Amino acid sequence: MNENITTKQGLSSGLSSEKARIFLEKYGPNILPKKKSDPWWKKLLKEFSDLMVVILIFASLLSFFLGEKIDGSIILAIVFLNAGIGFFQEWKSEKTLEALQKMVSPEATVIRDGVEQKIEAKNLVPGDLIVIREGDRIPADGKVVEVGDLKVEESALTGEPYPVEKEKDAPVFLGTAVVFGSARVLITETGAKTKFGLIAHLTLNTRSAESPLQKEIADIGIFVGKIAVAIVAVIFLLDYFWKGSKVVESFLFSISVAVAAVPEGLPATITIALALGVQRLAKNKAVVKKLSSVETLGATTVICSDKTGTITRNEMTVREGYFSDGVSASWEGIGWNSIGHITMSGLPKSSHASSLSVVLEIGMHCNEAIISPAGDAGVFSIIGDPTEAAILIAAEKFRNQSPGFPREVAEPTKKYPFDSSRKMMSVLAGNGKDGNVLYSKGAPEMILPNATHFFDGEKEAVMTPEKRAEFLAHVSELSEKALRVLAFAKKNIGGDVPKTPKEAEHSLVFYGLLGMIDPPRAEVPEAVEAAHSAGVRIIIITGDNPKTAEAISREVGIIREDEPRIITGDEMRAMSDGELTMMLYETVNGPKKGAKKYRDILFARSAPEDKMRIVSLLQEKGEIVAVTGDGVNDAPALKKANIGVTMGIAGTEVSKEAASMILLDDSFATIVFAIREGRIIYENLKKFIFFLFSGNMSELMVILAVLCFSIPNPFTAVLILVVNLGTDALPAIALSFEKGEKEIMNIPPRAPDARILNKQFILRIFRTGLLLTASVLAVVLWSLMNSGWSYGEGISEFEYEKLRSLAFATLVLSQLFVAFSVRHFRHSALHGLTDNLFLFFSLGVSLAIVLAVIYIPLLQVVFKTSALTGKEMAMVVYLSSLTLWIEEIRKFLLSRKLMKVETT
Ligand code: ATP
Repeated sequence: MNENITTKQGLSSGLSSEKARIFLEKYGPNILPKKKSDPWWKKLLKEFSDLMVVILIFASLLSFFLGEKIDGSIILAIVFLNAGIGFFQEWKSEKTLEALQKMVSPEATVIRDGVEQKIEAKNLVPGDLIVIREGDRIPADGKVVEVGDLKVEESALTGEPYPVEKEKDAPVFLGTAVVFGSARVLITETGAKTKFGLIAHLTLNTRSAESPLQKEIADIGIFVGKIAVAIVAVIFLLDYFWKGSKVVESFLFSISVAVAAVPEGLPATITIALALGVQRLAKNKAVVKKLSSVETLGATTVICSDKTGTITRNEMTVREGYFSDGVSASWEGIGWNSIGHITMSGLPKSSHASSLSVVLEIGMHCNEAIISPAGDAGVFSIIGDPTEAAILIAAEKFRNQSPGFPREVAEPTKKYPFDSSRKMMSVLAGNGKDGNVLYSKGAPEMILPNATHFFDGEKEAVMTPEKRAEFLAHVSELSEKALRVLAFAKKNIGGDVPKTPKEAEHSLVFYGLLGMIDPPRAEVPEAVEAAHSAGVRIIIITGDNPKTAEAISREVGIIREDEPRIITGDEMRAMSDGELTMMLYETVNGPKKGAKKYRDILFARSAPEDKMRIVSLLQEKGEIVAVTGDGVNDAPALKKANIGVTMGIAGTEVSKEAASMILLDDSFATIVFAIREGRIIYENLKKFIFFLFSGNMSELMVILAVLCFSIPNPFTAVLILVVNLGTDALPAIALSFEKGEKEIMNIPPRAPDARILNKQFILRIFRTGLLLTASVLAVVLWSLMNSGWSYGEGISEFEYEKLRSLAFATLVLSQLFVAFSVRHFRHSALHGLTDNLFLFFSLGVSLAIVLAVIYIPLLQVVFKTSALTGKEMAMVVYLSSLTLWIEEIRKFLLSRKLMKVETT
């Protein structure tokens, strides 16, 4: 342990910021040593280890050796260009993931200069006093100095999955998780000096696992590669034996054809498209930790969302109260402002302590929130749970009307912290000698059954079943108004200090109810509508009361039917998996005539285990499930879900680790936005796959055709390399910037097992590939006819140069037209022309390369081409644009419903 921190002096106010700064310099940041990543030059070298690149380098060396210096240099230049692009793409996606990691960097709650504050965990120093609560990942090694029933799960260190109880003075370790309770901890070691730092080489990094799509493409790459080898062999034989070319020429030629056939740039382009998507999502407050999640998002079929904070704003205001002495009250005002009148009715005549003031006192005892005046009169800023802060504001309003009401309550001597299964919390106050008092607050369904008495205004009266039913009726009444209802109780327990919540929380005396509003977020109804029209089901799974949850869900449009299925946690636990699945898939008549839809369903008063069960059952039915959760107990469900979503603001560190997406604004609307982006990214992937595959196919088919039919071959090895590695790469990347079509959220989610290269898609690629082939062959034949060629004859070098220019220009231009046309699968390519200026830029660059190869004299020598006349250029444009016009006609017929919609 560090010598500086054993002193008790100043412990409760923590370190001063000045001391913390000095310690940070002395001990360094609280980070684990990272595995060193490769230096940039090693990464660049890796780009040259690709088999295709090795073959090309070999081909270039061979060309030099045989005196073909120009060919050799071009191939080499292309190899370097290709490696440069690959290197850039990788660097860019790595940077994106790194930036994301920074956005989700862990935080710690520290007390410095006597003030509780959140700081980045990496700035913790030995000597810091921190506060840990349920759901926190312990940010460094330390010693417990003050404890409220702390349980820590240390499996990260010990492999033992059971929570360990921690008493005062017990050590706690970095990387372990608080699963229950809270404590103050004095930090003893940070960073590499911690137990975790010493023994583990693990870092809690975000990973970039390969997505199913990336795997599919890699598989396709291998498959195409094998075919390419076969084709190369055939072409080599045809060129060498049939045509009688020189062996080296045939070799170079067949290698360049292999390059044409293999979509070697595809995996890198997919990675960059996913990385760009991740970046766009992050800008819009959805941080995705793995590239592959972007793709899964687009296929989401069900969102299981909680309510508080996600659908609602988590800005609680106490609105109404009903108290055990028959008094009811309503609070005016909104949010964290203590200006607001309280109107009370049914006030008792005598001036004894009313249940209302006791309820507020209980609320102050059972409270970890801190409110402090901020700026304008009456306005407060809050730290902690908004539910608890709302009670403090309600008490503040009461104090304004009844100045005698206490400002502070005694510090608790023991805490029984809130947990979402028990749905209540209690604290013990008093010195034991005069008697301890237990204060409890929580869900009425939990407090009322445990209350044996209630305060009737004068004495503690026995709680009869009738009286309990009467109080529960008031709970319903408040809940139906969409209020979140809490119940308050206390009891005197002499000198006892019950060990567990179970031992403590019974035989309570009930004092009353408070109902608070938590208005829905303004953006949610629109997002709900978008999700519904996109065929995505929304199921609310909340810990709150069924009536409150139903009222809010109705308000935002999640529940639309008169008789939705509402299931409480208790009811659900009494059902078998089969019964529950049946409930989940119950249907009712849909909005369209004759159509069936799933009945709206809502789970209330549910516990985290229930969430996990629902997710599993939905997944068994093949759904792709996005699930929200913010507590430590939500971690298993978040991991199990296809997309685990947690909250940037309200989420615990443990849930942030388990989730695959973090919503920086906690809003449901951001999930729907992310699904939309996921769909757009997937469509864009399809667009450039379509573009690259149809182009590659046409190159292969043209070459096979000219060789088979003994037509003069318009392509040289280097020209083919220029097409593939020079003019293709940029438009493919640019297509991943497309903004998406407006229908993207009007179609049902794609089938989870759908492959990108399905039969229909392959057929479409084939169709376009054939059209491109036909255009190039047409220009070749046109040129040959013009030069008076007759079948079986050779042509002069001059005529070859013309032929090359024409064929090369037609091939590249027609591919560029495909890139332009495929911008939209369903709409005219002219739609939203300014949406993706990068595409125009990339098309411009590729066009400039074509013109340079044809018109710049030096390059004419290099590439053995010649300038085209205006008439010839017009022919090139006419033939290569055919694909665009045919597609435009198809899309026009589609828009007039004259053609069947093709699912692309
Ligand atoms: P959601 O699951 O949609 O986020 P929730 O916040 O109501 O909703 P939980 O946090 O699991 O879900 O809370 C469950 C119930 O426990 C609440 O409805 C409320 O009655 C009670 N409760 C919530 N916070 C506290 C608290 N700080 N102290 C005592 N009881 C609480």
